[in-house]
Amino acid sequence: MKARTSEPAATVIDAVTCSACGATSPKDGTWRLTWTSSVERGRTVRVCDRCSRDNLRSIEAKLDSAWW
Ligand SMILES: [Zn+2]
Repeated sequence: MKARTSEPAATVIDAVTCSACGATSPKDGTWRLTWTSSVERGRTVRVCDRCSRDNLRSIEAKLDSAWW
């Protein structure tokens, strides 16, 4: 399953910050394989692999991260 993203396919983002815990992704781009991207109120939100697991139910319920 591909994660939905609002960015064009050509966009390359090397590193991102987790919106839940503030962790910074590796700069090699591997975060794209494990991190979760979602759009909340028109804003792209990225969550690291650990927070994705911890908050999987909330993410699937489409709750804003403010509710986690
Ligand atoms: Zn995190």
